[in-house]
Amino acid sequence: MGEGCARLPSRTNGIRLSDTSNVRPPIAIDGPAVSGKSSVGKAFASRIGYRFLDTGLMYRAATWNAVQNGVDINDSQSVSAAAESMEFSVTDSDSGDNLIVINGENVTKHLHSIEVDDAVSAVAAVGRVREIMVAEQRRLAGEGEIVMVGRDIGTVVLPDAPLKIYLTATARTRAIRRHKDFIAEGTEVELEVILRSMEQRDLVDSSRENSPLKLADDAVVVDTDDLTFDQVVDRLVDLTEDVL
Ligand code: C5P
Repeated sequence: MGEGCARLPSRTNGIRLSDTSNVRPPIAIDGPAVSGKSSVGKAFASRIGYRFLDTGLMYRAATWNAVQNGVDINDSQSVSAAAESMEFSVTDSDSGDNLIVINGENVTKHLHSIEVDDAVSAVAAVGRVREIMVAEQRRLAGEGEIVMVGRDIGTVVLPDAPLKIYLTATARTRAIRRHKDFIAEGTEVELEVILRSMEQRDLVDSSRENSPLKLADDAVVVDTDDLTFDQVVDRLVDLTEDVL
C-alpha cells in the first residue's frame, strides 16, 4: 500500500487548510465495537464542519484484501506483506460516508460482513499493519479539522488531541444495534452470534500487545445506553465548547 494514497475531501467551513492559524484541532473518538462511533462520529463531524475518518474501515480493508488473496490471517508476515502491497484510498460519498477503494474497486459494502468482523482483530493486531495505517491517519490529521474514530486514536494516533471521547454501551445494547443493521440490510444473523463475535473482538482488541483499546487518561466517557442518537451527538457538540 503506497503511503499518501488516502484522499479525504476537505470540509473546512470556509477556512483554507494552508491557513494553519485558523485550523481547528483534531478530535479523537474511541470505544468498543458497535458503540456508535461511526454513525455518531459522522453526524457530529458534520455538525461542527469537520471531516470524518472511520479508521476501523482501514483495518477492515486490510482484512478483506488479505482474505480475498487467500492469506492466512494468523500468519503475520503474510498479512503484513498483503497490507504493504495493497493500493487503497479513502474518499467520501456525497452523504459524507467514507468509501474504501482497493485496486480501483469500491469494496466498502463488503467490509461489515460477519466474516470480516471475525477476522479483523487478528489483522489489526499485526504491528506492521498498524504502522502503515497510523502513518496514514496522522498524515490526514495533519490537514486539521477531522473527527477520527477507532480504538487507539486518543492513546496512540493523536495523543495531543484536545478532545478525546470514549463512547461506550453494554455489550447486549451494542449487539442489538448491530442486529438491527443486519436486519435492515436483509442479512439473517442470530443476535447471540453477533454478541459472541463482538465480545470476542473486544477481548482481542483490548488485550493485544500493540495499541490495545483502552481509556486515555484524559478522555471523556460517554455512555450511550440510555441516550438517543441525537442526544449523543448533542452531548459531543457540547463537549467541543471549551476546545474549539
Ligand atoms: O470500528 P470497527 O469495529 O469497524 O473496527 C474494526 C476493527 O478494526 C476493530 O475490531 C479493531 O480490531 C480494528 N481497529 C483498530 N484500531 C482502530 C480502529 C479499528 O485496531 N483505530
